[in-house]
Amino acid sequence: MTIKDKILVVEDEKSISGFIQTMLEASGYDVILAHTGSEASSMIASHCPDLVVLDLGLPDVDGLEIIRSVRQWTQLPILVVSARTHESDKVQALDLGADDYITKPFGAAELLARVRVAIRHTRLGASSESVAATGKFTAGDLTIDYDKHQVLVEGENVHLTQNEYRIVALLGKCAGKVLTYDFIMKELWGPQSKGSNQILRVNMANIRRKIEKNPAEPQYIFTEIGVGYRMVDPD
Ligand code: CA
Repeated sequence: MTIKDKILVVEDEKSISGFIQTMLEASGYDVILAHTGSEASSMIASHCPDLVVLDLGLPDVDGLEIIRSVRQWTQLPILVVSARTHESDKVQALDLGADDYITKPFGAAELLARVRVAIRHTRLGASSESVAATGKFTAGDLTIDYDKHQVLVEGENVHLTQNEYRIVALLGKCAGKVLTYDFIMKELWGPQSKGSNQILRVNMANIRRKIEKNPAEPQYIFTEIGVGYRMVDPD
């Protein structure tokens, strides 16, 4: 008998939480429900779920506050579900440590795909574990060779500049996750770096020219508009 993954759904609108519960249970997950922020906090501590699906608009506390307090003691994956479409909310949720973000209204397939990715990432320690084992990240024709500091497409070195390489290397280590512009800037250019993302955009345009078949429709590095970039999941 396999042990089911347990998902805590935090959502005050019963019609939505019921919909999510039905969908997740049909896909073989155990589901527990919280309708307020305080219920959520105590259930996270007492039930040790494998994933939290968190609505930001709760009656008692802001969902962002829950992310902030949970992240002080656990790396439990958090998938934010919200009606808010403001980019600043997405950025804030991700910067506070949410693993992913899905905007209402969403379809069953999209939610299930995000849930699977979020749970798999914790289980495997993101892609960094396979990278650590082989020294390489591979997705389709793209390979990042961390030992040689090279990026290859179809086995050919694509000759990135040092900054371009560092951006691709960072995204590869966190593949599947959205990294915010601010996070990337701080990782690469230190905590003092702030202000314009222009340097990042210029580098990304050059990276795409070198690694993507069609830079306008990237298959490896995706733009989350107004938020950041996401590397495709590894093979
Ligand atoms: Ca709500």
